[in-house]
Amino acid sequence: MPPHEQLLAELRAITGSAHVLTDPRDMAGYLSEPRDLYHDGQAICVARPGSREEVSAILALCQSTRTAVVPQGGNTGLVGGQTPLADGASIVLSLTRMNALRELDLVSNTMTVEAGMTLLQAQETASRAGRLFPLSLASEGSCTIGGNLATNAGGTAVIAFGTARDLVNGLEVVLADGRVLSNLSKLRKDNTGYDLKHLFMGSEGTLGIITAAVLKLFPKPQAVETAFVALASPDAALDLLTRAKAHFGNAIRAFELLPRIAVEIVLRHRDSQRDPFGEPHAWYVLLELTSQSDQGLDELLFAFLESAAEDGLIEDATVATSLDQAKKLWDLRESLPDLAKLEGGSIKHDISVPVASVPAFIAESTRAVLEAIPGARPVPFGHVGDGNIHYNVSQPIGADKAAFLARWDELNTLVHGIAAKYEGSISAEHGIGQLKRHLLAEVKDPVALETMRAIKTALDPLGILNPGKVL
Ligand code: FAD
Ligand code: ZN
Repeated sequence: MPPHEQLLAELRAITGSAHVLTDPRDMAGYLSEPRDLYHDGQAICVARPGSREEVSAILALCQSTRTAVVPQGGNTGLVGGQTPLADGASIVLSLTRMNALRELDLVSNTMTVEAGMTLLQAQETASRAGRLFPLSLASEGSCTIGGNLATNAGGTAVIAFGTARDLVNGLEVVLADGRVLSNLSKLRKDNTGYDLKHLFMGSEGTLGIITAAVLKLFPKPQAVETAFVALASPDAALDLLTRAKAHFGNAIRAFELLPRIAVEIVLRHRDSQRDPFGEPHAWYVLLELTSQSDQGLDELLFAFLESAAEDGLIEDATVATSLDQAKKLWDLRESLPDLAKLEGGSIKHDISVPVASVPAFIAESTRAVLEAIPGARPVPFGHVGDGNIHYNVSQPIGADKAAFLARWDELNTLVHGIAAKYEGSISAEHGIGQLKRHLLAEVKDPVALETMRAIKTALDPLGILNPGKVL
């Protein structure tokens, strides 16, 4: 009998043969990831269960045969956590067929959804019910709730609502041996011992398979105002943030920083985009405010921007007057990661530092990077309101892409060292996966690392869940 034939037969008996993919052409899309750093993944098959019971049976089977399982949602993760290793010893467990809405409770303000529902579907489901599900990422069209929770995703609305883990009341998880840890609780308060759901969120598929979640819903805003603000420096951006917080508090839905080069990159590669201002500025902030009242938010925003301009804090500002204009301003921010690929190689960092240290972190990193690679083009952008900067570095114009990317580890060491100096994190929101696994021992407190290993051993003693990732 060919290798794995028995396993494949049993998997087919669980899900039906149509949902066990073995043809290389059918599997290809599950084996590499959007950053294309990991494209030599191999798997025994891709199994696509349709229910919690099927996930449970698959895990029991994999535990008894000691087969590794790589959970996968929308395959948009940026650290290679969701793709199999090159050894071909694992199955990919794709959750995307499990995308049902199980329950909507508009009094408790919760929505119980299966893990394979895309973030966009979750947002739209909430919106149709007159509610808001605030998690917001550029990958929302294809990433899934399961992947969002497994990576504790961040995105642009963290400043107001926190990261993915802050948006969850309850979780259903299939453990490594197939048992179901069912805690689809709607409770806002429950102090009956350890809060186990938080173990699985951010665990990147190494502790259990998330099959469903009870998500928190919020009132849908009645007014949204989007502004694009030009300013001289990250310091000015932080002054503006402090002022905006005093003025608007939790009404600030997004506060995203962009350097001039980011806008230039988008303008260069997007015919439909225009510079929002008549002249270039060194830095920009995309500011979004929301309100539960449908009146007056625009006037408050105008007055706020006017006084910031009078005080010399900002150089210029434009406020979207239609949904289309707001979308265009957002496109300047959201299309950047994709369009930056057209500029050649880009070495990435996902740093967070205390908010107050952002300007110093950016300045020091830029000095260090330019000293190491003259002509390199730093593009530090992102969620400045959370102290989370994607300190990406595009290759020098005309340089050899492969030679530039060969310096990935060297630049990481430089930039991560500067983040460490400010007591920052080397992975603010994307996780560890395969990409940063070798760095964990350097940045994590040894006792924290031992505790993580003890938890892993307790929940997955045979190490079948996403081996080679995180730990
Ligand atoms: P996958 O990529 O399929 O998986 C990610 C990890 O979760 C893997 O380790 C996988 O094994 C595990 N996993 C997946 N599903 C499950 C499950 N059901 N149970 C257990 N483990 C599971 N991230 C941010 O935080 N903020 C951003 O702003 C952001 N923007 C992005 C923009 C773009 C264009 C792209 C491509 C990615 C972006 N990301 C961002 C990365 C982010 O991690 C993902 O988009 C998303 O959270 C992952 O969801 P997914 O369903 O695609 O998960
Ligand atoms: Zn981000």
